[in-house]
Amino acid sequence: MADRHVEVLLAGGGLAAANCARWLREEGAEGSILLVGREPHPPYNRPPCSKGYLQGKESLQDTLFRPDEWWEEQSIELQTRTSVLKLDLEDRVAVLSTQEEVSFDQALVATGSNVRLLRVEGVGLEGIHYLRALGNADTIRADTKGRERVVVVGGSYIGTEVAASLTLLGRRVTILMQEDVTHERSFGAQAGRYFQSVLEEHDIEVVGGDGLARFEGDGERVTKVVTERGRELPAGAVVIGAGAVPDTMLAKQAGLALGERGGVLCDSRLQTSCEGVYAAGDICEYESKMHGGPIRVEHWDVAFNHGKTAALNLLGRDVPHEEVPYFFSDLADWCSFEYVGPALEWEEEVVRGSLEEGEFSLWYLGGGRVKAALSVGRSDDLEHARRLIAAGTDVKARTGVLADPQSDLSDL
Ligand SMILES: Cc1cc2nc3c(=O)[nH]c(=O)nc-3n(C[C@H](O)[C@H](O)[C@H](O)COP(=O)(O)OP(=O)(O)OC[C@H]3O[C@@H](n4cnc5c(N)ncnc54)[C@H](O)[C@@H]3O)c2cc1C
Repeated sequence: MADRHVEVLLAGGGLAAANCARWLREEGAEGSILLVGREPHPPYNRPPCSKGYLQGKESLQDTLFRPDEWWEEQSIELQTRTSVLKLDLEDRVAVLSTQEEVSFDQALVATGSNVRLLRVEGVGLEGIHYLRALGNADTIRADTKGRERVVVVGGSYIGTEVAASLTLLGRRVTILMQEDVTHERSFGAQAGRYFQSVLEEHDIEVVGGDGLARFEGDGERVTKVVTERGRELPAGAVVIGAGAVPDTMLAKQAGLALGERGGVLCDSRLQTSCEGVYAAGDICEYESKMHGGPIRVEHWDVAFNHGKTAALNLLGRDVPHEEVPYFFSDLADWCSFEYVGPALEWEEEVVRGSLEEGEFSLWYLGGGRVKAALSVGRSDDLEHARRLIAAGTDVKARTGVLADPQSDLSDL
C-alpha cells in the first residue's frame, strides 16, 4: 500500500516538468499534482548559469520559473531536495528518497541531463569545475576570482559562454577544444570562425585542433592543462564544458524503452513505451514527422514546449509535438545568436548578409531543403526558416533568393 495518492506525478524539477505543471492547471486539470525534484531550488531557468547569473547580473529570483508563492497558489505540490528513486509502472507507485511511497494515475519523466564527465589524469584536483546548476556557477565565480588564468575545456556553446562571462568578470581565459574553430560541430566552420573572432577580439585565447591529455597540479590544486600535442597551458582554475548526457537512470530502472540517441523513446505525443507515462525535455527522444524519425534536442525552448505538449496529452487532448526546435546563445553582451532546426548534418551552407559586418543568417541545406538556420542580428529570417523547415519546401533552385539579403523570403 502506498502512503498516499496523486493524480499526476512529475519526476524531475527542471523546466520541462515545471511548464508541464503550469499547463496542466492552465488547461483545467483539477486533480492533485506532485512535482519532485532533487535540486535544492524550485524549478529555474538553466541558461543564466553560464550567462547573467554567472556574471553576477542576475539573482536566483531572476532565474526562477515562477516565484515561490505561485506553486501554492496553483495547488501544485513542490517537493525539492527529493529524488524519485523508483517507478513501479505496473502498480503505478513511486518510491521517493524520503522513503515515502506515492501512487499515481499518470506520470511525466523529465529528469534532464547531467554533464559529460571526463576521465583523464588529474581531473580530481581542486579548482576543476563542471557547470550544470546554479550552485556550480556560484562556485566557479568564487573560485576563479584572483586566478592568473582560467582554462575552459570545450569550444561549444557552454564553453564559449563561460569563457565570455568570465572575461566580463575580469578573468583571463584560454579555451582548449578538439574542433579547429569554436562551435564547429553544431554550426559549421563558417559560423564558428565568426564566433571565434568575436572571442579573440576580447582577448580570449583559443587553442583549437587539440585534445586534453591531463591536468597537473601542485599536489592539491590544478596549475596546468597539458594537451595531447604537448602544449602546457597555465591554469589557476578550469571549467569543463564537454557536453551533456541524458539522465535516464530512473527511466531505465522503470523499464521504459530507450532510443538510439540515448533518450527515452516516445511517440509524437511524447508518450513513452508505457501508457499514461510521458517524457519531456532533454531526455525525450520523440517521433517527429517533420524530421522523418526520432529526434532528441537539449534546448531550453524544446524543454519548455515539451512541457506544454505533455500536459495537453496528460489531459487526453491527443496532440503531436510539432514545433521546430529553437536555440539561443549569448557571448557576454558582445554577440547573440539564434538557431532553428535540429540539423546536425547538412550538405550546403548559404550566407544571407555579411559575416564581416556581423549581421547575417546562415542557411543549412540538405537534399535541396532547409534543415536549419542560424541568425546573428537577423531574427526575422528565422520565421521564414521555421516555415520552410516545417513545410519541407524544395529551395534547390532558389538559393539565390536565400543569399540575397534584399530579397523577400515570403516569396519562397
Ligand atoms: C549552463 C547551461 C546553459 C544553457 N544555456 C542554454 C541556452 O542558452 N539556450 C538553450 O536553448 N539551452 C540552454 N541550455 C540547455 C537547457 O537549459 C536545457 O535543455 C533544459 O534545462 C532542459 O530542461 P529539462 O527540464 O529537460 O532538464 P533539466 O533542466 O536538466 O532538469 C531536470 C531536473 O530533474 C532533476 N532530476 C533528475 N533525476 C531526478 C530524479 N530521479 N528525481 C528527482 N529529480 C531528478 C535534476 O536534478 C534536474 O533538476 C543550457 C544548459 C546549461 C547547463
